[in-house]
Amino acid sequence: MEKNIDWANLGFGYMKTDYRFVSNFKDGKWDEGTLTTDENIVINECACVLQYAQTCFEGLKAYRTVDGNVVCFRPDLNAKRMADTCRRLEMAVYPEDKFVDAVVKTVQKNIDYVPPYGSGATLYIRPYMFGSDPIMGVKPANEYQFRVFTSPVGPYFKGGAKPITLRVPDFDRAAPHGTGHVKAGLNYAMSLHAIVDAHKQGYNENMYLDSATRTKVEETGGANIIFVTKDNTVVTPKSNTILPSITRRSLMYVAEHYLGLKAEEREVRFDEVKDFAECALCGTAAVLSPVGKVVDHGKEILFPSGMEKMGEVTKKLYDTLTGIQMGTIEAPEGWIKVIQP
Ligand SMILES: *Cc1c(COP(=O)(O)O)cnc(C)c1O
Repeated sequence: MEKNIDWANLGFGYMKTDYRFVSNFKDGKWDEGTLTTDENIVINECACVLQYAQTCFEGLKAYRTVDGNVVCFRPDLNAKRMADTCRRLEMAVYPEDKFVDAVVKTVQKNIDYVPPYGSGATLYIRPYMFGSDPIMGVKPANEYQFRVFTSPVGPYFKGGAKPITLRVPDFDRAAPHGTGHVKAGLNYAMSLHAIVDAHKQGYNENMYLDSATRTKVEETGGANIIFVTKDNTVVTPKSNTILPSITRRSLMYVAEHYLGLKAEEREVRFDEVKDFAECALCGTAAVLSPVGKVVDHGKEILFPSGMEKMGEVTKKLYDTLTGIQMGTIEAPEGWIKVIQP
């Protein structure tokens, strides 16, 4: 039985659900893992995560499709990305197949929290890991905890997707050869000041440039960026300091194989931005959120798509990818994982 929740008015926030998955790494190996009703974690005061921020996470969603199935979208890519992150942070790697299993089991146990088709709401899934044993001298932890919890979240856009405004900040997100390409908690900790400051100044998000030259577009604090040229080519910045968004990789495929558009991943100079027709942010939370304006130290770039609605190509990309996720459009092989109740 579906839970009695006002799905349409849910926000993007934490709501406790019934079960979460927990597995511990100790003495060089992972245990079997278990589902628990306890949402609290008790760890030592000197746990590596608390002192040296050795933690990483993933984010994906479960959807109710048009024919009533519960599915999640490309969880194997989240599994691989978390493994890459763990290697970069010297953490134990959670096996990729067990990651997908843990996601499936956690959703199964909370299946009544998967919002109905058409509500716009979804079940957000948060896998994460942290160094859990006491570490004083700076080094990686010896013990780790991997967990997965879920939380129903509301439609990202209430009352239509209104274009947002980005500013080019004086802060950097990721250093060359740093950790910008992995989903480490530390990348978010250091972005908080920049986003609070952006909001104070009246902007929605920061458009970070590459920190080495400050001439090339990278991404925002938590979403990749796509552009559409005036002749309908979809362009996304190529850089090894941006986080490889699964949504962005999927959208580039959709552009090429479903919409018959040209799709290019290449360096994007900031001085080209004024020539694009459309711009949008992409990530699991919103899929695509349209950008109407970019402000660089007082200089405004207003995209031709304007501040009222999504650009035309952005809208087609959005409708196609969400159609694939919700089961109204046939998905490429392997993109959709059906979760049996
Ligand atoms: C998670 C994340 C994204 C979006 O990735 P998806 O896999 O599409 O959800 C983009 N940028 C950053 C910095 C992120 O952490």
